Amino acid sequence: MKVNKKHARTIPFFTLSREYAKYKKEINKAITSVLTTQQFVLGEQVRLFEKEFASYLNVRYVVGVNSGTDGLMLALLALGVGPGDEVITQANSFVATATAIRAVGATPILVDVDQETFQINIFEVQKKISKKTKAIIPVHLYGASSEIEKITKLAKKHKIFVIEDACQAHGSGYKTQKLGTFGEIGVFSFYPSKNLGAYGDGGAVVTNNKKLYQLLYMARNHGQEKKYIHKTYGINSRLDELQAAVLRVKLKYLDQHNLARQMLARRYVELLRGVKTQHILPNSVSNYYLFVITHTKRDALQRYLTSLGIGTLIHYPIPIHLLDSFKYLGYGSGDFPMSEKLAKTCLSLPLFFGMTRDEVTFVSQALLSFQKSS
Ligand SMILES: *Cc1c(COP(=O)(O)O)cnc(C)c1O
Repeated sequence: MKVNKKHARTIPFFTLSREYAKYKKEINKAITSVLTTQQFVLGEQVRLFEKEFASYLNVRYVVGVNSGTDGLMLALLALGVGPGDEVITQANSFVATATAIRAVGATPILVDVDQETFQINIFEVQKKISKKTKAIIPVHLYGASSEIEKITKLAKKHKIFVIEDACQAHGSGYKTQKLGTFGEIGVFSFYPSKNLGAYGDGGAVVTNNKKLYQLLYMARNHGQEKKYIHKTYGINSRLDELQAAVLRVKLKYLDQHNLARQMLARRYVELLRGVKTQHILPNSVSNYYLFVITHTKRDALQRYLTSLGIGTLIHYPIPIHLLDSFKYLGYGSGDFPMSEKLAKTCLSLPLFFGMTRDEVTFVSQALLSFQKSS
């Protein structure tokens, strides 16, 4: 097939409408049941979702919270991280990873990412560990695994905590274990576009440690042990019942949906020979939250795809160290070359539930025809 403007059709970067069309009955029923019971906060749905998600992840405890960002912040709080402490994370992530560190009064120490996996660079982490380092937050970027085994080993050696930012990695795994269950605490986001997405904001923190669980359980609800008995510092960051009801429906299909994404991603890889894509670690499984390529003429490529009706996005156009809101950290241009290079060259291609093989072919051919003509 020759790709020209006449073949243009609309392939959105992302849509939930195909998923909703398929599960409409089941989802509507779940929502209606919450409306009928009139239990909107911390009821049966949240309790059951926490139980089911724990069993899915094979982890002891899950606490539903209001968002992934809150989850990261509550995880830091539970581990006693605060003012004067340093927390290491990567420059190439969604801003929330660094925001959470700042929110508890600690200092984000940024490091660069690896040029093949785009994941946190473990050698750079090693260099930044100091007496003040309390925790590392590796992000499982784009839904693929970071070098989580090496990271937990390094952390143990230096007696620092690992909080996994698994906000993009629902159902992804390393060896036989699900991501989010390697560190002291794992954090998930249920923002609608995530592989397990709610119909609004939502998140969860997961742990195998009972003490941390108790702290997290109280901290998401005003530090409350029982009504009006406040044992510890806490905020209002509860997952609500409507979201939990939707998540319970969608959790049942998560593996099946991830598998479908993996097949589409494999098709992209097959068709896009010669185009640089994210390297996935051996012995790991990505849920392909995002399918990311890099291209030296990224902006022109994006414009070309847009002209053909193909939606794309950039994750992320400005690395955290160059954001105005993190200027106070004192980093500058050139500090993290790989993150900066990625910001200039990466492009996320369409990938969502219900996308067809044919649509992947169309996007791939469009990309290859750009390659040829440029
Ligand atoms: C989505 C996301 C978050 C934050 O999640 P919210 O639920 O939107 O607060 C944090 N880190 C990463 C890497 C994310 O992709």
